Amino acid sequence: MEADFGLTDEGRELVGLARRWVQDKVAPSASSYEEKKEFPRELFRQLGATGLAGIPYEERFGGGGQSDLLYLAVLEEVARGSLPFAVTVSVHHLCSFGIHQFGSEDLKQRYLPRLFSGEWLGAYALSEASSGSDAASLRTRAEREGDAYRLTGTKRFITHAGEAEAYRDLSEHGRSPVARAHAAVVEGMLAEDPVEANRLLAEGASALERVGFRVEAARTMVDLARAKARVGEDPRDVLQRARDLLIECDARAFLFEVDDAIAELGTEVDREGDDDE
Ligand SMILES: Cc1cc2nc3c(=O)[nH]c(=O)nc-3n(C[C@H](O)[C@H](O)[C@H](O)COP(=O)(O)OP(=O)(O)OC[C@H]3O[C@@H](n4cnc5c(N)ncnc54)[C@H](O)[C@@H]3O)c2cc1C
Repeated sequence: MEADFGLTDEGRELVGLARRWVQDKVAPSASSYEEKKEFPRELFRQLGATGLAGIPYEERFGGGGQSDLLYLAVLEEVARGSLPFAVTVSVHHLCSFGIHQFGSEDLKQRYLPRLFSGEWLGAYALSEASSGSDAASLRTRAEREGDAYRLTGTKRFITHAGEAEAYRDLSEHGRSPVARAHAAVVEGMLAEDPVEANRLLAEGASALERVGFRVEAARTMVDLARAKARVGEDPRDVLQRARDLLIECDARAFLFEVDDAIAELGTEVDREGDDDE
């Protein structure tokens, strides 16, 4: 059974158009591009010419002004004919999305019409040797130099690398106060030197965020305690600090997470402060 999840008539028409184009052009030629190890530039140009390279974006930049749902339905059609080409469409979208969502008006004017018409192919550069799922640990830095940024770092697994005209790069450019506070509280608490962590936390985060960061720091300590126990080290100190931290920031509702680990690891802690309300 096929469901269209509520596409409009116009949307269904466009999906039909995409389906026919995929059947006629994409599916028959997909394997020959693979065999030749060649990027299907001609198919990509056709994608743009048919209006399928910028479906969910504003029309004033050459986008289709349609829904995300329609974009996904078209992507599904492309994947029926060629999974690799569907990856191309989705990575191109990841590039366009960042510019459309976060770019300046000038950047949008310069990049988006070319991306949506298929003149330019987009790439999205997040992954690094030490950063994949954990995007926050990326190491590439962006330093301001006049009107431009100098990027220093190494990316990997970047689809369209070397082929694309536009790259959306994810780099570190001075962390926000909240992100710095977050990192500092976990590192500071683990290093038994919470003074600087607390200063940054007070500077960068709201009262609610401060509690949230401390709860996360306590959870990190529980993970660390389990890891210590696994390699034969005493987890007691870390568990004690995790408990003290939760009590100090009045987040007793989360004490059970530490207590479960204490019971599991069969260790003892000082329970002073448990009963204060
Ligand atoms: C075909 C292809 C195309 C790609 N194209 C691009 C691209 O264009 N641009 C780009 O930036 N990247 C691209 N990548 C990289 C891809 O996005 C990364 O591989 C992905 O983000 C995972 O990162 P990683 O390989 O470092 O694995 P890791 O993040 O190290 O993950 C390894 C394993 O650990 C698991 N794991 C991770 N964190 C946790 C956690 N906290 N708890 C439990 N389990 C966890 C994961 O599920 C996974 O099974 C591409 C990859 C492929 C295969």
